Amino acid sequence: MNVTVDQDTCIGCGACAEICPAVFHLDEETGKSRVIDPDACEYAGCCEAAEENCPVEAITVEGDSGF
Ligand code: SF4
Repeated sequence: MNVTVDQDTCIGCGACAEICPAVFHLDEETGKSRVIDPDACEYAGCCEAAEENCPVEAITVEGDSGF
């Protein structure tokens, strides 16, 4: 599974980090979300929820989560 955050699109709202802290982290320097552990998507099961709740659709989740 591959998870990416489009840095140009992200507005740093923090929703993804709140929904799925195992995978997304709001970077203090850029103020934007970054993927800290894409492999965590496999077991955390919250990547899709984060993707759906991103207000600007900056998150792309590719591949089968297995859920
Ligand atoms: S939910 Fe979307 S806009 Fe908000 S911090 Fe995450 S990637 Fe950025």
